[in-house]
Amino acid sequence: MIDQATVEHIRNAANIVDVVGDYVSLRRSGANYKGLCPFHNERTPSFIVSPAKNFCHCFGCGNGGDPISFLMNLNNFTYREALLHLANKYHIEVKEVEVSEEQMAERNRRQTYLTLCTFASKHYHNALAADTPESNQALQFLNDCGISQASISRFGIGYADKSTLSLVNAITEAGYSISHANDLGLVAPIDGAMRDVMAGCIVIPVMNKTGKEVAFAYQPIDNTGNASFANFTGQSAIFTPKDALFAHFQANSSISKEKSCYMVDNPFDAIMMHQAGFTNTVAPVGEFINRYVANDLAKQVKDDSITIITSSNSQESLNRGFKLTDSLLPQGINVFCYDCAPAHSLSAVLSSIHAEDFRAKILRSRIDCITFKAQTLIGRATNSSELVRAIHNTLFSIKSIRDEASKQIYIDVLAQISKIKPEILVGELAKIKPFSYE
Ligand SMILES: [Zn+2]
Repeated sequence: MIDQATVEHIRNAANIVDVVGDYVSLRRSGANYKGLCPFHNERTPSFIVSPAKNFCHCFGCGNGGDPISFLMNLNNFTYREALLHLANKYHIEVKEVEVSEEQMAERNRRQTYLTLCTFASKHYHNALAADTPESNQALQFLNDCGISQASISRFGIGYADKSTLSLVNAITEAGYSISHANDLGLVAPIDGAMRDVMAGCIVIPVMNKTGKEVAFAYQPIDNTGNASFANFTGQSAIFTPKDALFAHFQANSSISKEKSCYMVDNPFDAIMMHQAGFTNTVAPVGEFINRYVANDLAKQVKDDSITIITSSNSQESLNRGFKLTDSLLPQGINVFCYDCAPAHSLSAVLSSIHAEDFRAKILRSRIDCITFKAQTLIGRATNSSELVRAIHNTLFSIKSIRDEASKQIYIDVLAQISKIKPEILVGELAKIKPFSYE
């Protein structure tokens, strides 16, 4: 295995203009370079290379990436092959480290789970297209929810049939291990036999950032027309809810490009946002997101912002929004909240307004997360102990703000809303234990 210091050395040396320049003839265009996309046929250049971001992107087909992922995509290189190619190009000496048998076994085990997850995902996706009375009912449900055929493909949406044995049989026939499928939460012993946990449900893969299926979001088909797909298969060797954002893979390049991101309550809302053109939308899987995911987002949005779309009609949605706020603020991200109440759901809003108008409306009506939290919690407090709790709750978020000047500004905001003197709030703030990702 290539030694980590060598990997860092290669990453730092690799210059996107050089690397792409080996394959594409580039022309300067402002701060960037432009050329004909090597991933699709085109006559006018839509392939942009940004030296500042060390990143390339095609506005025609969406392909691109950093020097390593560019080489992996273009040449079908593995990660290791891309690194070796760059080491050769930049004359970097490659140091290898021994991989212990244990490490190798762990890596193989991970790979086995990933392969099995991909297999299950394909199985469900094919089952949805099987043209049986049951699969057609599932398609009808998706259609009634407003999910398009394009989204079904884009998100790999599938269906687990009611038999409870379909995945079990498919796994056995393909020679995979049922016990591994059990570890992933795909099957479980029910009445003495292994059965499909998600039988009768619409099933949507949750992918990691590199596009590998690691878990599933699911929901039974019902006749209420309400969808959220907010059940998730549980923690496993390849999946931790706090590490995952639903649709992060699909949204990744848009977030980097637009330097902003929307966060919504659940996978269904995320899909509807993508469908409406807001392709920089993700939905959290766990209650919090961990330090690494938050830091990753912070790098992508840079000085811009993340907007949490919540609904003050739903306590659950508000709680989620507040928890997300607390996991994003320590990374120095500007966090805004947009309240989609009084509409009863985000999809109702999306179906009643043109996407561009909605974008403008969000920018006009969103408020910074601290003001939103203070107004919402303090506005709902009906007695003094609730008021004190609301103030402490808001101070807890203020504590996570990195910038001292912003902290001061938000103390003043909270003072105005709560009618408590800023000096007192500052005193209380000092006593508060800061947010921890653990
Ligand atoms: Zn292209």
